[in-house]
Amino acid sequence: MIRYCVNCDEERTLQVERRRQSLVVKGEHIEFEAPVLVCKECSEIVADPDYDDAVLRTAHDLYRARHGLLTSSEIVELRRRYGFSQRALSRLLGWGEVTIQRYEKGVIQDRAHDEVLRSLRDPRRVLELLDRGSGKLTPAERERFRARAQAILEQESSAWLVREAESVLRYCGPDLYNGFRNFGLDRFTGAVTWFATHVERLSKTKLAKLLWLADFKHFRDHGVSITGATYARLPFGPVPHRFELLLGLAVESGAVMLVEESFGDYVGNVVLSRKPVDQGVFDEKELAALEFVLKRFGQYSAKKLSELSHQEAAWLNSAQGEPISYDGTRRMRILDSPPNSPHHGRGHDKGE
Ligand SMILES: [Zn+2]
Repeated sequence: MIRYCVNCDEERTLQVERRRQSLVVKGEHIEFEAPVLVCKECSEIVADPDYDDAVLRTAHDLYRARHGLLTSSEIVELRRRYGFSQRALSRLLGWGEVTIQRYEKGVIQDRAHDEVLRSLRDPRRVLELLDRGSGKLTPAERERFRARAQAILEQESSAWLVREAESVLRYCGPDLYNGFRNFGLDRFTGAVTWFATHVERLSKTKLAKLLWLADFKHFRDHGVSITGATYARLPFGPVPHRFELLLGLAVESGAVMLVEESFGDYVGNVVLSRKPVDQGVFDEKELAALEFVLKRFGQYSAKKLSELSHQEAAWLNSAQGEPISYDGTRRMRILDSPPNSPHHGRGHDKGE
């Protein structure tokens, strides 16, 4: 490329080089490397609108990143996700027509605008704005954007549900009712999947007992539960607190599915695994506890397990509906019963 060089006062050949740049943005020194046009003869930088804009945008983006503001490319990405043009997004927000265009070119947004933009990462917020009829969009535009935002919302909702639920479920610190471990949805789902993989025709009732046994077994051996679940004393034995919700989340995450099957004259749900348990969710000791429970109790019927659990001190010492303390595991006879005890048998399993 031949261009006039101010320094040489001659037409010169230019080339692109990465050079160290130092700019002051809003009173702050920003240093970085960026491609610039350089005179081959004298090595001086030659001004060029495109390269200058890029350098300025880079400096501004570094400033933005440093101050926790969305960068120009993040704003572009956010806008494109919903299929907005620069103008349409400005209109939706009731801002000046060229506001978004300027931000994408590198003008630094103030914090209030940044927060508004940031909130649009949540498609529910976009739908809210569209529904409220704010901004100056045509009905057709509004409809098109709504469909897009709705689709994104659906895509994300499962992941959200699981994430939000986990933060709600992780409510209390480690104590005797969760086996000194904060509840972990990934671990719980992992244990559910693990049993669903290894036990045929796994009913929900039986799953609840196997989880209880595995958590309590691991607590007895190592002083901490596997999943952090709390078990409540219910009429047919211990059941994880919010079991239906937790199972629903495991289904939602795609780890397992519930299928109706008949158990004699009963119709109940069987838990089937849909994908293998994530590697690394459980360590060797935890896997050993799961294996132990599978080997010892995997063939028991839900009814048998329910009867056995009723003989436990841990069970007898809790009131109906109340959480069962992990404290009683030392005296859990069920964990010590030999594999071929008289309790062993394939009883008629009831689904629910
Ligand atoms: Zn020159």
